[in-house]
Amino acid sequence: MDIHQAGSRPTKRAPKEYFTGTVLQDPIVAAVNAPSRVLAASVAFEPGARTAWHTHPLGQTLHVISGVGRVQTKGGPIREIRPGDTVWIPPGEKHWHGASPTTAMTHIAVHESLDGKHITWMEHVTDEEYGGKAGG
Ligand code: MN
Repeated sequence: MDIHQAGSRPTKRAPKEYFTGTVLQDPIVAAVNAPSRVLAASVAFEPGARTAWHTHPLGQTLHVISGVGRVQTKGGPIREIRPGDTVWIPPGEKHWHGASPTTAMTHIAVHESLDGKHITWMEHVTDEEYGGKAGG
């Protein structure tokens, strides 16, 4: 058994290549422990911050723990997400996630690695794409 005590693993600032705005990542499951392939992190987005468009080879679960956020599948409506909401992103589905324009959001993200890869990054979410009115 390992206990990773709170504060023992540093918070990382998410890279600008793949995120807009300030995004802080705290590891939960930080490395694939074969044959397990799960990874998990707590991710905090400042207001207006979001991921770039991306896909996950084996899908992703997002569980909102604070604030108000947004998530969108390519071609679909922008959806508002709140604490207690759980989002399932199917494998290969192009999407982004982030905070609302005025309120920060923190979610737990859980995803699995396939052949050493858990995410495929694409283009940034433009202000026009992000600024659309959020639905329920
Ligand atoms: Mn994702």
